[in-house]
Amino acid sequence: NQSNAALVARREAAVPRGVASAAPIFADYAENAELWDVEGKRYIDFAGGIAVLNTGHRHPAVIAAAKAQEDKFTHTSFQVVPYETYVTLAEKLNDLAPGDHDKKTLLVTTGAEAVENAVKIARAATGRPGVIAFSGGYHGRTLLTLGMTGKISPYKKDVGPFPSDIFRAPFPSVRDGITVEDALTGLKNLFLTDAQPERVAAIIIEPVLGEGGYVPVPFEMMRALRAICDEHGIMLIADEIQAGFGRTGTWFAIEHSGVVPDLITAAKSMAGGYPLAGVIGRADVMDAVIPGGLGGTYGGNPVACAAALAAIEAIENEGLLARSTQLGEHFRARFAEIGARTAPYRMWDIRGLGAMLAIEFVTDFDTANPDAALVKSICAHALKRGLILLGCGMHGNALRIMVPLTASDEIIDEGLAIFEAALADAIA
Ligand code: PMP
Repeated sequence: NQSNAALVARREAAVPRGVASAAPIFADYAENAELWDVEGKRYIDFAGGIAVLNTGHRHPAVIAAAKAQEDKFTHTSFQVVPYETYVTLAEKLNDLAPGDHDKKTLLVTTGAEAVENAVKIARAATGRPGVIAFSGGYHGRTLLTLGMTGKISPYKKDVGPFPSDIFRAPFPSVRDGITVEDALTGLKNLFLTDAQPERVAAIIIEPVLGEGGYVPVPFEMMRALRAICDEHGIMLIADEIQAGFGRTGTWFAIEHSGVVPDLITAAKSMAGGYPLAGVIGRADVMDAVIPGGLGGTYGGNPVACAAALAAIEAIENEGLLARSTQLGEHFRARFAEIGARTAPYRMWDIRGLGAMLAIEFVTDFDTANPDAALVKSICAHALKRGLILLGCGMHGNALRIMVPLTASDEIIDEGLAIFEAALADAIA
């Protein structure tokens, strides 16, 4: 058997440091919300492969669907010989996405690719170049999406320049004292200073900031963005890559606000662990790009499409939207208890929507100084005790919960007990 340490050493020699791993362990086997490393040690997984596993590791229905597809064919390229599962999945996504207008769906492979394509489609539909994104937003690591991502370190550091015609608006933030009104004033000022509104194709926003710290967009802000987009003929793009597919208790997080976007980007938990992403949008907008202008060799891979159809069915059949809401309430209550008991005045905020929850840690309540070192230490202690946790946030001082919605109550509570012990270790 291999040791984690030996594999870490080989990895350091063979793989660039830029692709950093949160855990110094190597995976051997995983099932639902549990994972075993190559040394046979068991972990509870609260990270879900960065919000990809709302239906858990190797959901039996997902695996069965993928295997059945593998026995037929694994690749033709939809652009050469199409297959039904792509179309069935597009139909399903068109039904699930908010709004009763006609919709169409493009399938690609990664989240960044979905965002790139949403921008291309919005540009073709409007004949305009501009894109407005928000501070703290995360949209990917390709050069266009990095330009839209609103955080320098580690994503944008040293790799610019980025494409032009990308503008930044402020995201409302309690920490920074930016109210919804301030944020909207910032956006309107942007229209006066840099971004001529009739030259703006799209405003893109995560309905719940993901990498930026699991901060929900206040619903009145989302409604105001819809009105601003309508006034200026701008496409509203909801980036649901991290928040979608049940994480927040609805199929798409934007549903909580009642706002209907023009385009949605989706990925991650859509396909239960297979690489698949998509752009879902108004049919007229989606058809703006000419034939041949969209796609890619692997886009909408048949095995991933089969997995996605099964994952979506599992979310429906197992009541995972309701489970997300219930898990969110459970986590919130337990975090408040644990904070009061184990680390008074260090948990500055518990926030999110449904089971898309984060805790923000500070050095103390008076200064509310972000404590990224504490989050790092909690993650390290949790890993030692058998729990995989991941941080997030502009200041790296938030811990986020991305546990499979299929996890049993016992596993959740076992994970929470480990979290409490790790928190005690970290502040000791
Ligand atoms: N948008 C959001 C909101 C994301 O959370 C992510 C991934 N963390 C992306 C885009 C990029 O997706 P990918 O890593 O699959 O390219």
